[in-house]
Amino acid sequence: MPEGDVVYRTARRLGRALDGRPLNRSDFRVPRHATADLTGRTVLETASRGKHLLTRVEGGLTVHTHLRMDGAWNVAPAGRRTPGGDLVRLVLANAEWQAVGVRLGMVDLLATDDEHRVVGHLGPDPLGPDWDPQKAARRLLENPGRSIGEALLDQRALAGIGTIYRAETLFLAGISPWRPVGEAGDVERVVELARGLLEANKERPERTTTGDPRPGRGMWVYGRAGRPCLRCGGRIGRGEMGAQPQERLIYWCRRCQPG
Ligand SMILES: [Zn+2]
Repeated sequence: MPEGDVVYRTARRLGRALDGRPLNRSDFRVPRHATADLTGRTVLETASRGKHLLTRVEGGLTVHTHLRMDGAWNVAPAGRRTPGGDLVRLVLANAEWQAVGVRLGMVDLLATDDEHRVVGHLGPDPLGPDWDPQKAARRLLENPGRSIGEALLDQRALAGIGTIYRAETLFLAGISPWRPVGEAGDVERVVELARGLLEANKERPERTTTGDPRPGRGMWVYGRAGRPCLRCGGRIGRGEMGAQPQERLIYWCRRCQPG
């Protein structure tokens, strides 16, 4: 699933293809905006906010998209046939490039002045200019009885963390995912660890949290159930946490993350 680093890179890729060029085609394949037409408007920029993408165009409009579970923006030279077929939700193209959004979980067109309606609820973004670890920690601690594993996925506390960075962050922090946030110690340190991992991977297509590029060694715990912990040799556990439909896989080392 795309997390903050992937969304950040996607925004950069869209920016390189679309920024400063007038659109010669816009094709919204969602019922709500099927008749929208941005042809002739210049794209100003695409910003990422947690897992959300905001493509701002001339005339005070913003295209809001979200990759959700498995969406993607594919960028290709104009005119080239692009895969996607029925899964395409939005095409934005100019004379040189086409950006094709497939399996997008959200496609909205709104006034740039109204962006707060779609991203205003989000907590600080570790990769954003407004990153504020104290505020993120404060928001996590607003519900001190909730497990830290569940809390880290709450986009209202901090925006951009998914199941991979949750598991890896908690391993590095040495904290069990089931420990209540209020008993997790220095929560600001935890969110800074998450920021460090996202920061280290934001320009890197092959995600790694260990720094080890060898196959099977790029992650400390995520996806390694039943295998030996790279730090202590203990067996990595796997479980599910959170109320449905938020229930998502968690991986952790019982020895390195006691409790
Ligand atoms: Zn371990």
